[in-house]
Amino acid sequence: MSLFDRAELAPADPILGLTEAFNADTRPEKVNLGVGVYLGEDGKLPLMAAVRSAEERVTQQHKPKAYLGIDGMPAYRDAVRALIFGADSAALADGRIATVQTLGGTGALKVGADLLHQLSPEATVLISDPSWENHRALFTRAGFTVDAYRYYDAEAKGIDVDGMLEDLRAAAEGTVVVLHACCHNPTGYDLTGEQWDAVIDVLRERGLVPFLDMAYQGFGFGIAEDGAVVTKFIDSGLNFLLSTSYSKSFSLYGERIGSLSVVLGSAEEAKKVLSQLKIVVRTNYSNPPTEGAALVTTVLTDPELRQSWEDELGSMRERIKTLRQGLVDALAARGISDMGFIAEQLGMFSYSGLTKDQMIALRTEHGVYGLDSGRMCVAALNTGNLDYVADAIASVRG
Ligand code: PLP
Repeated sequence: MSLFDRAELAPADPILGLTEAFNADTRPEKVNLGVGVYLGEDGKLPLMAAVRSAEERVTQQHKPKAYLGIDGMPAYRDAVRALIFGADSAALADGRIATVQTLGGTGALKVGADLLHQLSPEATVLISDPSWENHRALFTRAGFTVDAYRYYDAEAKGIDVDGMLEDLRAAAEGTVVVLHACCHNPTGYDLTGEQWDAVIDVLRERGLVPFLDMAYQGFGFGIAEDGAVVTKFIDSGLNFLLSTSYSKSFSLYGERIGSLSVVLGSAEEAKKVLSQLKIVVRTNYSNPPTEGAALVTTVLTDPELRQSWEDELGSMRERIKTLRQGLVDALAARGISDMGFIAEQLGMFSYSGLTKDQMIALRTEHGVYGLDSGRMCVAALNTGNLDYVADAIASVRG
């Protein structure tokens, strides 16, 4: 008997497995609203103009492919820290932030989870109910017990803030709390500034450990607006972790580029934490790749490319809003008037309220792929498939 006979056949990943099923579907009218990817009007993944220019510049340099440092490219670190925390951040100037370049947002979450588990193996991790599917799996795999705090109010189509605060108040000291910084995945409902203040108060009172996950900066209200929550956390004086991803906002999914920052009370603490983060990275994949970091750095530090990126991200954000409204109107035209909330949700997703059976019917009968939870990626709609999707939804709603 081989050792590998012990390996059981695992179920397909709830999101990426759906893409596999989509790819195998031969119906030409099929639509993939499963994975969180922004597609253009032509139904294709865009290569952003600023990224294209940066790529040309980087290629022309014909640089040899040296190893990066364990924590990544220094210029990248500086550029993303200025983006996230502001170039004139006092915490940055004080040296109180430890940052490493990571393999996308997922890599940032895992490096952060491994660090936290080493420091506090008995802690529980709380994620929102519901949350991005991989949060639970990732923190469980890192060795934590994962539980959830109330978040989505299905009746009211919004956030159960009182329930959330109550669950956080009931958490044991040292509990890690994973919070979506903006464009909550999957619900599309974000806390208001005042609600964030209330959450921060409870985090402080209860001695909880915040882990902010920011995968969609720029897709809600704007780069600065979506990032404002980070300033709130800095101003709160709490220590916290922050993962960022540039998969969506630079359309650099396959480059695996993101960052993990830990904001601490002193430069001395930051130095120690960075040294531990480097051990986590070194013992996993040694050091990160260069290409994505070079592209993001070039775009962020060149004023012209930066402006072009901000403008294009702005038009992506606005286009998603138009698609949301387009879907709401198309549904209304088919007699469905109770899905107007889709236009109010933020980011790439709509938590449609459709049942698991309806989502399965969408898939099997119409080739429209969304998650069983009812999550649909509205950023994958276009004027060519919107009516088809509306017809399909109207058909499964009966
Ligand atoms: N966090 C959230 C909330 C996400 O939705 C995603 C991606 O879908 C990630 C993290 C991971 O981002 P990346 O693809 O850069 O690993």
